[in-house]
Amino acid sequence: MGLHSAMPDLHTLTAHAAHELLVTKAISARELLDAVYARIDAVDERVHSYVLLMREQADAVSARVDAKIAAGESIGPLEGIPLALKDILCTQGIPTTCCSRVLEGFVPPYDATVVRRLDDAGVVTVGKTNMDEFAMGSSTENSAFGPSRNPWDLARVPGGSSGGSASAIGADEALIALGTDTGGSIRQPAAYCGVVGMKPTYGRVSRYGLIAFASSLDQIGPITKDVRDAALLMNAIGGPDPCDSTCYPEPAPDFTEKLGRDITGMKIGVPREFFSQEGVQVDPGVAEAVHAALRVLEAQGAIVEECSLPNVRFSLPIYYIIAPAEASSNLARYDGVEFGYRAPGTRDIVSMMTDTRDAGFGMEVKRRIMLGTYALSSGYYDAYYLKASQVRTLIRQDFERAFAQYDVLVTPTAPTVAFPLGAKVDDPMQMYLNDICTIPINMAGVPSISVPCGYDQGLPVGLQFITAHWDETTLLQAAYAYEQATGWSRRAIDEIERVTMAG
Ligand code: GLN
Repeated sequence: MGLHSAMPDLHTLTAHAAHELLVTKAISARELLDAVYARIDAVDERVHSYVLLMREQADAVSARVDAKIAAGESIGPLEGIPLALKDILCTQGIPTTCCSRVLEGFVPPYDATVVRRLDDAGVVTVGKTNMDEFAMGSSTENSAFGPSRNPWDLARVPGGSSGGSASAIGADEALIALGTDTGGSIRQPAAYCGVVGMKPTYGRVSRYGLIAFASSLDQIGPITKDVRDAALLMNAIGGPDPCDSTCYPEPAPDFTEKLGRDITGMKIGVPREFFSQEGVQVDPGVAEAVHAALRVLEAQGAIVEECSLPNVRFSLPIYYIIAPAEASSNLARYDGVEFGYRAPGTRDIVSMMTDTRDAGFGMEVKRRIMLGTYALSSGYYDAYYLKASQVRTLIRQDFERAFAQYDVLVTPTAPTVAFPLGAKVDDPMQMYLNDICTIPINMAGVPSISVPCGYDQGLPVGLQFITAHWDETTLLQAAYAYEQATGWSRRAIDEIERVTMAG
């Protein structure tokens, strides 16, 4: 039911389509925001994408945008566009929880750089989204606020850890979103929810004001309805930042630069380790969808070849040394003194800290802190963290060798489609194995993007594109070419409508 017959439901629009309607005054920023909030009111009780809504602030920002349009001023590509923000990004004056009890009551005194840049771009932040506690998980089931649900099947997980951002985009509860990705947390939920998710090169986007999980891996990136929107969001958030010394000092390119360019002659490598490894096989239906996608790319003139990245098989084991080690150090600061929650009625400073951490952290976070503390302990550092760092170099070199030969690598994003809620909560190893296709990319620090490539068992499958460090423009070019040739991205609005509005 549109405003009039030619007008689609506003909440289902991409950002670039909404922008066209805003500049031609066919719609106002107010109408767009109202449509998004109406959608949230209609479905979020079931989908549970959001942990906090920011209506007042959103109203004020959209009113400013409408005033600008009324005054005849030009607006930027994301001005007035409703966005969902993962609750791991600091927002000045607005609670930021990481979906952990330990951050209960924490109100950041400053904005993350990405949040400030979005504000400067006139983006309308609608609310903050659900996630696995401290971004540790693949299903949002580790959230202190309860899980989000997959808009394609409410009995299934949306993926994680940025599950709330992905379900928000999948269920049309925002036009664009930000997530973070340490081992797959943008791309895997994007794949599960049938949307686009991009992890930029490590260092491309400032992490100032991002609550740290594993500092040598964490990256911020877009979750959107299509590839063009991902590029537009990258234009708003990418580039150097004096507040983050790990940020690449060169100016970011125009990420839309190569969208629409022909991919004839583009060399695509398909690393076999992403389909089958000891202990994990990609589901046949997922592999089939990926192979069909490769044929589409070939039909567009790309040269597709199988290749091998032999050290990729070590990615998961070394991730579970490096990420917990860094997390155990980063999470030492939650001791009841400076941030958020403090256990009541404790006797002395030691019991205050231990009781705070005991009551404040969930199971998975405690497991990671223990693993990481062990890996860093005296005598074990060389055997574990150092060794893992050396193996990590071998993985990066595998990618560098591959990119001497290929422009792009293509793989599945995850070995399965979205799994049922509860299916893996009692088996951490099964949960971890879900990230087998995404973690190697974080290990190498290269950029990658997941785009929808069809269905298995009626649920969306993600196709992962990977390019060399800093080559996001080629990444987006390849993903865009595929998307335009197939149009999977927005095929199933009716199905999502049926699921999320039911009950
Ligand atoms: N699922 C992985 C983990 O649990 C990755 C999470 C992430 O990328 N933040 O650590």
